[in-house]
Amino acid sequence: MTYSFECLECGNPRGMQGECRQCGSQDLPVSHSDTIVLNLKLGSPTAQEALDRLTIALRRASELGIKAMILIHGYGASGEGGRIKQVIHHALDHHYFSDRVEQYHFGEHTAFGSEAYHALLRRRPSLKGHLKHFKEGNAGMTVLLLATVSKNCLE
Ligand SMILES: [Zn+2]
Repeated sequence: MTYSFECLECGNPRGMQGECRQCGSQDLPVSHSDTIVLNLKLGSPTAQEALDRLTIALRRASELGIKAMILIHGYGASGEGGRIKQVIHHALDHHYFSDRVEQYHFGEHTAFGSEAYHALLRRRPSLKGHLKHFKEGNAGMTVLLLATVSKNCLE
């Protein structure tokens, strides 16, 4: 697992959520990037758990000013792996996260070199390093472009 966040207090790398494991700081970590990868399959959650995890991560990401999130949800044809993808796609298509997600791009519609791929890169060049995984159009991944929440809206 790679950490793209750093603790403000002790400077150690830490995850996006929870407290710092080194010093216990509860402050928001500093982000090294405006793009993060969220693996929803980690720990083999149920589809509902994966959806809850995404809900929490989206809230945190918008607090941190993250601009894009790459979701890894897998694409199993059957079983819980496939269920996670179904539930995530369904939630996005039914605007569950429309207050935080401005655009979403399913991997299978964003194949490397396609028009959709280039449009996405123009919008957010920092995705380039991540999109190399989309060579054939990766059905196990979805890119979310997050809505910008102004400070005034949070108060
Ligand atoms: Zn710390």
